[in-house]
Parts: sequence; C-alpha cells; structure tokens
Amino acid sequence: MLQITNTLTGKKEEFKPLVNDQVTLYVCGVTPYDKAHLGHGRVYVMFDVLYRLLQFLGYKVIYCRNITDIDDKLLKKAEVEFGDKQQYKKVADKFIHLFNQELQQLQCKTPDHEPRVTENMPEIITFISELVKKGHAYQVEGNVYFHIPSFSSYGKLSKHKVQDLRAGQRIKVDERKKDPLDFALWKAEGKGTFFESPWGAGRPGWHIECSALAKKCLGPQIDIHAGGRDLIFPHHENEIAQSEALHEKLFANYWMHIGLVQINKEKMSKSLGNFFTLEQILNKFDPMVLRYYFLTHHYKSPLDFSLDDLQAAQKSYQKLIRTFENIKCSETISYKEIQDSPVVLKMLDFLLDDLNTPGMFGVLFVHLDFLQNNQKQACLVKSFLSKILGLELKPLPQKEIEITQEIQKLLAQREKARAEKDYKKADEIRDKLRQLGFDIQDKKNE
Ligand SMILES: [Zn+2]
Repeated sequence: MLQITNTLTGKKEEFKPLVNDQVTLYVCGVTPYDKAHLGHGRVYVMFDVLYRLLQFLGYKVIYCRNITDIDDKLLKKAEVEFGDKQQYKKVADKFIHLFNQELQQLQCKTPDHEPRVTENMPEIITFISELVKKGHAYQVEGNVYFHIPSFSSYGKLSKHKVQDLRAGQRIKVDERKKDPLDFALWKAEGKGTFFESPWGAGRPGWHIECSALAKKCLGPQIDIHAGGRDLIFPHHENEIAQSEALHEKLFANYWMHIGLVQINKEKMSKSLGNFFTLEQILNKFDPMVLRYYFLTHHYKSPLDFSLDDLQAAQKSYQKLIRTFENIKCSETISYKEIQDSPVVLKMLDFLLDDLNTPGMFGVLFVHLDFLQNNQKQACLVKSFLSKILGLELKPLPQKEIEITQEIQKLLAQREKARAEKDYKKADEIRDKLRQLGFDIQDKKNE
C-alpha cells in the first residue's frame, strides 16, 4: 500500500484513488520566461518517480502538467527582448523547448497532457463565467476577481486564517476589489489584442488556469495535485477556492509538495545571486548524476544544494554503475518479474512509505555485495532502478571540460604554489578547480 503525506490533512495517509485502478495526477508546470533552475528539476524528477511508481503498482495514470505561456513575466521579457509584449509566444516557445530537452536528459517521461494556457482560452473563460454566475466572482472595469469571503473554507491547505491574511496586507490595496484579498481571474489588457472575453479583451490570471486545465484534462475531482512547496500559498489555496466553489466537492484528495532547493540554507534566488540553472549543472554533470542526487534526498525536506555534495553523489552513483555494469538483462522484463526479487521488495517498501528514496538507496547499498554474486537478482534490481527510478546506469561519458581563462589562471597559480611547496594553497586551488568540474590528478613521480 502506498502512503503519502497529504498537505491538506498534514498526515501521512494510505493512498486510495477515486476510481479503482486509475490515478489522476496534476503537477503545476513552468512559466517559460527564463531557463529552468534546480528547483524545477527536483520537482519534475520527483513526480516522474511517482508517475512511474503508480504505473508499476498497476494503476492507469493520467498525468497532466500545464504550461503558463502567458503571464506578466513573459510579457515583460518579450518587451525587453523584442520591444513588443505581443511577442511573448516567441519567448515561451524558446524556453519550453529548452525545458523539454532538459527534462528528457533527466529521463522524465512526458506527461499525458501538457496543456498551454493560450490554447485553452474557451475553457478558462467558461470557468470564470460560471464562477461569476454563482456569485463567487465579480467584474470591475473589465477585470474579474474571485471574492474570497464567498468561499468559507479559504485557507484550509495553507492553514492561513482570512482575518490574519487581511491584517498582514501591507501594500496599498486595489480599491476596485470588494475585499483586499480578492484575486484576479481575468485581467483587462487594453493595449494589444490578447483574448476576447465577455468582459472585454484581456488575459487570465495565473491561478485560474490550473483549475480550468485540471478540469479539462482530468475532471472536476482529481486524486493527486502536486508542486513545489512555494506553491501552497497563494497558488494552490486559490486553485482550491476556484474549483471547490464551482463544483462543490473536494478538488484534489491528496496534495503533495516538494521541499525547496536551498543554497547555504537560503532559498535559491536570482536576487541573492545563489542561483543555478539546470543548464549550468548539466554542462558539468551527467543528467543521471543529478537525477540520482535529487533522489538521495527525501522529497519533503528542503535540499541544501552544494557542488561538493553533487560530486559525492557522482561517486556513489558510479559505484552503482560498476555493480551493474556487466549485468545483461532483457529490456522486455515485466513489472511482475521484477517484483519477484526480494531485494526489490525491500526497496519498494521504502518507496511505498511516502517515496522514501534515500531509505531505498540505503537498502540497495547494503545488498550490493549480494547482487554482485547473483546475476539473476542483479538483473531484476537493475531493471527496477531503470524503469521505476529512471536511472540508466550506463558508464558516464568522460566530459570534455572547456578550459576557460579562469581555469587556466587557477592551474597556473596552483603550479606556482606547488613549486613554492605551499601545499595548503595548492590544495585550496585544487578544491576550487574541482568545483568547476575539473579534477586534477598529480602524477606520482612528480
Ligand atoms: Zn497550478
């Protein structure tokens, strides 16, 4: 039985789908206005494992991940790059392409549905119209707002109280709103053509797209709704308000959230300058090393990222590669056959316990010696790692490292330090080079 921690109840619960043998999974997707960062990588790798695991357990899974291909950040980027915000599609196309390539490198399977906001305007407009009709939303000057006091259980996911949120409002409130907490479902956009609606030309707010797209692809009620922890409030809270106000039933039975990627215990952010894009990391490390690294951390906890830890993960991943290197097994091996392995069953126990991937690897490492002497078992475990965890276990290609000026300078400084027998300094420089992906091995006779 699969147990997952449900943010809605704050408890670890046994997973039971709405319909026998079928699971609907919705994961909030990216806003493609810039390169994806490590936090995105972590979220989509973790839910890829959940997707694979549910299939392994025999469920027919329908996985939907939206693409926010219009929003303020995209329009701003189009303005900066092309001097015209109407060119936002070009920005979105470029970054979606890059994002898909990176997820492919990370062996993430393509969701069954990847709806783009701009291609689903009728569904979004209908959703908003119905909320207006039911008295949960109102129009002011071409904008439509969701009226929070009309939904009595607002705050149930994030455990915020409406009165506290109101008291916490520091910025000047938009006077057109009936309540300072009301949020936009539709934004009037006079300039440019954007999209026609019953309220005039404009575009949807961010939150409404997920309610409308989840309904379109998966139905009004879904099993698992997921995303990064930072989406709990206000995004997921607002999604609940929209969907449950309209349908008058629970929107998602299970809410799962991935801990944030931090650097030096601080949230990774561009403004703090502690920021890694997936591209930067994938230029230096094999995608499977990054995937393995993500999986060695429990999804619920924050992940304090460092290049040294990633380097250490590479070493331990290589140990797995070596163990399974000469194990030949058929591609067509079935899920049922894989479950015949006692080692797989032990690993599976950990996965079923709230996707405890670090615990699962712990069990695997304990059994490496046994597997080395048991071809048949090793083959089953290798198949499990490749099919369910998405780890290819192929020898890592020797990456050619571009010798930049920075590396050249450090190499020269290190040579000098060594010549002067300042080994402490030489070691420090070696560590710096290692962080840049450049491993130095001195010849013994030197
Ligand atoms: Zn969403």
